[in-house]
Amino acid sequence: MYYVSTRNKTDRRTAAQAIEKGLAADGGLMTPEVLPKLSHNGLDTMKDMSYQQRAVYVMNAYLDDFTSSELASFAAKAYGGGKFDVKEVAPVRQVDDSTYCLELWHGPTCAFKDMALQMLPHLLTASLKKNQEGKTVCILVATSGDTGKAALEGFRDVDKTRILVFYPKDGVSAIQELQMNTQEGENVGVCSVVGNFDDAQTGVKKLFSDEKLREELADRGFFLSSANSINWGRVLPQIVYYISAYCDLLRDGKLQKGDPVNVCVPTGNFGNILAAYYAREMGVPIKKLICASNANNVLTDFLNTGVYDRNRTFYNTMSPSMDILISSNLERLLFALSGHDDAQVREYMAQLNECGRYEVSAAIKGKMDKVFSAGCCDDSQTQQTIGAMWKEHRYLIDTHTAVAFHVLEQYRKQSGDTTPAIVVSTASPFKFCDNVLGALGVEQAAEGTGVLEQLSQLTGIPAPAPLAALKEKQVRFTQSVTKEHMVDQVLEMLR
Ligand SMILES: *Cc1c(COP(=O)(O)O)cnc(C)c1O
Repeated sequence: MYYVSTRNKTDRRTAAQAIEKGLAADGGLMTPEVLPKLSHNGLDTMKDMSYQQRAVYVMNAYLDDFTSSELASFAAKAYGGGKFDVKEVAPVRQVDDSTYCLELWHGPTCAFKDMALQMLPHLLTASLKKNQEGKTVCILVATSGDTGKAALEGFRDVDKTRILVFYPKDGVSAIQELQMNTQEGENVGVCSVVGNFDDAQTGVKKLFSDEKLREELADRGFFLSSANSINWGRVLPQIVYYISAYCDLLRDGKLQKGDPVNVCVPTGNFGNILAAYYAREMGVPIKKLICASNANNVLTDFLNTGVYDRNRTFYNTMSPSMDILISSNLERLLFALSGHDDAQVREYMAQLNECGRYEVSAAIKGKMDKVFSAGCCDDSQTQQTIGAMWKEHRYLIDTHTAVAFHVLEQYRKQSGDTTPAIVVSTASPFKFCDNVLGALGVEQAAEGTGVLEQLSQLTGIPAPAPLAALKEKQVRFTQSVTKEHMVDQVLEMLR
């Protein structure tokens, strides 16, 4: 099976090449040339499998240059060995008669990014071997919080890799900073950058285009790569959990073979919901994909009108991982819905680049309407939803998940659609204690890691072990540099 660029179908690569490259040379995203379909009894076959076995089954269909036993060893390393705090890895909880919640935050950093970033390092290092790349890869990450920590945990002590994370000194929460600065592992580095997220990101982009640095690192046996969410190696592991959730509901008799479900996803870069779209295309009976946004509702408008327009105010919300105005993975959806019309995708992306706006054809809009619905939720609705979920169901959710629950309710009211729905839960509520406490009526949040204890006492729910352990952890990284000195930090680490 081959992967092609969304901007040039003639650029064909193997899976291993697509994963090593991350991005196509023309700036397009590497995407399967043909989407595999589940066989008619595929879901039945997977019903009684473990999560790891389901991952092998699904990934096998996309990665024909990898053997099943390779994939089985990756799945065991990524999702086994106590890395997740429940053996189901991605459990489905029933909330009411027709609503289920897919919890994707049981991994080592308590956010859904673990689902992909625990797998990516294994896919990447195996790809490098297949491509006969002799150098050691150094992953550079600029992070506004969740991604950096998940990438550090994923790459920690993985052979033939190094990882270096830059975060903005003024742009992450106290808990997030502590999570990163206490990171363990021999091949990891963490450094703060004076300024905001833009400063860190601009700095990292400069490192990637620094020819002198590239040559110096090549002499030392390293090359630079990124772990961002457009890499196929991050999208693929996400398809697995949608299929797994449907299998769970079949196994538990909540659904019968062929019964439809709706899926509601809190969305930022469009990676998570894109994976749900691929699961649907593979044959999982998903009826509607409901795209949930916060006040940065560029996707709500796009899916409702067909016009993507990033020329709008940017809001810092209490669901920060969805504060995004350019949803990179949307390009893969355009490629699919245009019938792999690479010229059309190229044109839209050029318009986006030049004027921040494009309008899709009536044909694409028509296809979008069949599959997608979209809504948004502001901060006060987010807090109300957290409070109501706790009061009515004794179910504690984080700010991102609350956006999805609110949008689902809105969708049900407007459409009258009573199809059972799966809401995707992307972070542990303990990752966003301050706002969750506020939603439960607490006016004064404790200092530092004290908020974990405070939320735990209020709800009777223990904080996840990786967060509870933070206060005992040794701080290992304290370096802080200006944008201009990031290059020295890279050279220092890659000795
Ligand atoms: C990254 C993230 C999202 C958004 O996911 P996308 O794949 O970018 O749409 C939602 N919630 C949390 C907690 C996240 O970390």
